[in-house]
Amino acid sequence: MSKQLIDDFGRTVDYVRISVTDRCDFRCVYCMAEEMTFLPRAEIMSIEEIELLAKAFTELGVQRIRLTGGEPLVRRGLLDRLGNIGNLPGLKELLMTTNGSQLVRYSKILKKAGVKRLNISLDSLRAKRFRAMTRNGDLDKVLAGIDAAIEQGFQRIKINAVVMKGSNEDEVLDLLEFARDKQIDIAFIEEMPLGNIDSHDRALSFCSSDEVRAIIESRHELHAMAHQTAGPSRYFRMADSTTRVGFISPHSHNFCADCNRVRVTASGRLLLCLGNEHGVDLLPIMRAYKGQIEPVKEAIIAAMPSKPEKHHFDLKAEPQILRFMNTTGG
Ligand code: SAM
Ligand code: SF4
Repeated sequence: MSKQLIDDFGRTVDYVRISVTDRCDFRCVYCMAEEMTFLPRAEIMSIEEIELLAKAFTELGVQRIRLTGGEPLVRRGLLDRLGNIGNLPGLKELLMTTNGSQLVRYSKILKKAGVKRLNISLDSLRAKRFRAMTRNGDLDKVLAGIDAAIEQGFQRIKINAVVMKGSNEDEVLDLLEFARDKQIDIAFIEEMPLGNIDSHDRALSFCSSDEVRAIIESRHELHAMAHQTAGPSRYFRMADSTTRVGFISPHSHNFCADCNRVRVTASGRLLLCLGNEHGVDLLPIMRAYKGQIEPVKEAIIAAMPSKPEKHHFDLKAEPQILRFMNTTGG
């Protein structure tokens, strides 16, 4: 069986993001509706199924796995067995994206289980605004969580900030100074039209990476980094800091040509592209062939030709993608 996942456009898939739950302790305005109905437990992957999937991917040449959600740290039972994923042969890096609310409690366990790098979401440094954007988040807890992660010595911790006009665009420089001060990285994200949200009009709140970059360049000179990772981010350095500044621009800069990733939703659906519905349901296969890895690997290989060449996002039209980011795994 092929050791590599290659699609019809010659792109090798060596990176997978797995959503371990659709649930979350926050309700960020750009990610979820205020009233959410989450999937019944029976419809989401068990921890054993997540492990099997991770093993299948690594046997197919995947070198990096990012666990996300929803909020991965609210998934019960995950942390007890995380080391089984962290220690998979062939896996170079186990990564996690988290909202940081539980990091004071769990960063030590994450480090021990082999998680190499953390992306931590932080859209505002003002407690009231932070609460409004997350609908119930406690800024102090997240800041303490970031400090706890730094103390554990994770490599290249990165802050993820979604920038929205009329909301937090006036904090771009403050967030950057925060990252510089902590000597961690930061990425500014363009809002994506995933799911129908009711809190704001995305066409009005959209703030492009070019606009964010102009705000930063009013204070700091940015130097493009020679080495760019595959994907939607471009990274820059400043002469006087170790902090890297990233711009994640699914709208303004098409990144599909070198896309190296696929995603698996909490319900076990393999998604070939964030911006399309192309996918295959792996959960029924995992349940029909309980514990067997070959049928899962075969299904993943068979899905590769349906990875589309590119996505199309249009902020003015109704969202094409009706799933929310929390089910997809950001
Ligand atoms: N709960 C974790 C967190 O917030 O970091 C992990 C999951 S969250 C879906 C992953 C990332 O997606 C976060 O950085 C979040 O800001 C981002 N995100 C969520 N909805 C988004 C949207 N509509 N457009 C752009 N980024 C979004
Ligand atoms: Fe939760 Fe992350 Fe979505 Fe915010 S962005 S609601 S923290 S899953």
